[in-house]
Amino acid sequence: MLKELIDKFYTENQKNKEQTRFYITDAGKCPRAVFFKLKNVQREGLNARILRIFEHGEHIHRNIFNILYRLRVGVTTEIPIPAQEIISGRADAILCIDKENYVLDIKSINSMVFRTLLEPKQDNVFQIQLYMHYFNIKKGILLYIDKDQQEMKEFTLDYDQKMVESLLVDLHSLKDKVEKDIMPERLADYPKNWQCQYCQFKQTCKLLNGKESSWLTEKDKIKTI
Ligand code: SF4
Repeated sequence: MLKELIDKFYTENQKNKEQTRFYITDAGKCPRAVFFKLKNVQREGLNARILRIFEHGEHIHRNIFNILYRLRVGVTTEIPIPAQEIISGRADAILCIDKENYVLDIKSINSMVFRTLLEPKQDNVFQIQLYMHYFNIKKGILLYIDKDQQEMKEFTLDYDQKMVESLLVDLHSLKDKVEKDIMPERLADYPKNWQCQYCQFKQTCKLLNGKESSWLTEKDKIKTI
């Protein structure tokens, strides 16, 4: 009885924010899923358990911010990247340790993933590289927290200009497709890719032509917000 009420609270309060620009978290993600977001295609709702996991992750972030301030290494937290035409995003923190500045990105993950994590996840690397680029800071730290056991792993990265340039080329090419109403093709390893397992546009993706196609002819098959 109570469980159902709590679950209902979570599912009824989830927001499907309208998105008009790329977010840093879109870097390296399936271009077709990002395209659907920018075209305001209706998303499949997340279940209450997943929403509680996200909320728990936010609490972990806040605890770390608090400790950074007490350690006096947190110069600033939750800082938006400077305004420009392609992308928006908010870095977790900018730190100063031993007179060196770092962009910090915190990721809370489950124990199973944490145990096998020997190097940072690729999409996380893409995100922190873009933060370093827009803040003009040459070093970044990816801090992973095992949300079940509270263990931590950190990876320090140097700014990689070539990687950033390639990410920006991809984002500009996708922007072009959004503006010209060209729907990108499915991922090459659809539906096995891990992104497809968690994609909120799975049903839409399945229903539409899997190849690159005109959005104007495809969109009538589905609902937008
Ligand atoms: S189901 Fe897979 S290929 Fe289709 S939009 Fe989602 S992530 Fe992309």
